[in-house]
Amino acid sequence: MAREDSDDTHDTPRCASGKARLYVEGDLGKGASLTLDRDQSHYLVNVLRMGADAQVLLFNGRDGEWAARIAEPHKKNCVLELVARTRAQEPLPDVWLLFAPVKKARLDFIAQKATEMGAAVIQPVITERTVVTRLKDERLQANAVEAAEQCGLVAVPEVREAEKLGSLLAKWEETAPGRRILFCDESEEPGAAREALARLAAEGWRGAPLAVLIGPEGGFSPKERELLRGRKDTAVLSLGPRIMRADTAAIAALAVVGLALGDW
Ligand code: SAH
Repeated sequence: MAREDSDDTHDTPRCASGKARLYVEGDLGKGASLTLDRDQSHYLVNVLRMGADAQVLLFNGRDGEWAARIAEPHKKNCVLELVARTRAQEPLPDVWLLFAPVKKARLDFIAQKATEMGAAVIQPVITERTVVTRLKDERLQANAVEAAEQCGLVAVPEVREAEKLGSLLAKWEETAPGRRILFCDESEEPGAAREALARLAAEGWRGAPLAVLIGPEGGFSPKERELLRGRKDTAVLSLGPRIMRADTAAIAALAVVGLALGDW
């Protein structure tokens, strides 16, 4: 997974605490040792210029966060020794982001920001007016991994394959039983979001499995709107009087949900 060394992260450790933090696939446990792949070895040894005994934080989405020390600072296969668990494994808030893909650069942005906003699943959705249909999932996943490393998560959201809205909804009951959908509809009358969210919280939506749905630049079609508004598991939400770009709306919606129904 190519690590995007944008200049602002070139020689700064990859997280707020100032320590290098890396997502790894292997199991994490006391006394275990772990050999990094070429990309991560290069990052620690060449980019961050870390040597023997330097501390690194590791997480794999299962075993919490672990402090490790560099045992052998090889440029291509750096060996780390695990020292102690620093944080327990915490579940991500159970919020999924369903969004109609937009142009490439903004796709990366959405993957990063959805991760920072705590989305557990990032699900690209192809709607009638979606223009972008080719998606490089591994690139989106790489963006999510980097954002998780930087923002101190101990888990990484799952970036899924793009699906058509109709087929996703048709099988929703079996693939996401009990998960309610917040349909962000730009045509919804603005000014009632606070009351709408308070009502949903009172109806048990707070802390419940949720999905936020954001449309493409062209918005939702009347047919899609009718399909969504007719579902019992779906509530319509206005995000205010201004029409936002899809990527802005994704962040705004996740923030509003985090505040009113999530873990803020
Ligand atoms: N082109 C459409 C807007 C699409 S904006 C138009 O001009 O009407 C892309 C997506 O962002 C929308 O489908 C919706 O999901 C979300 N969005 C943007 N602004 C919103 C708002 N004020 N309220 C609810 N959703 C909004």
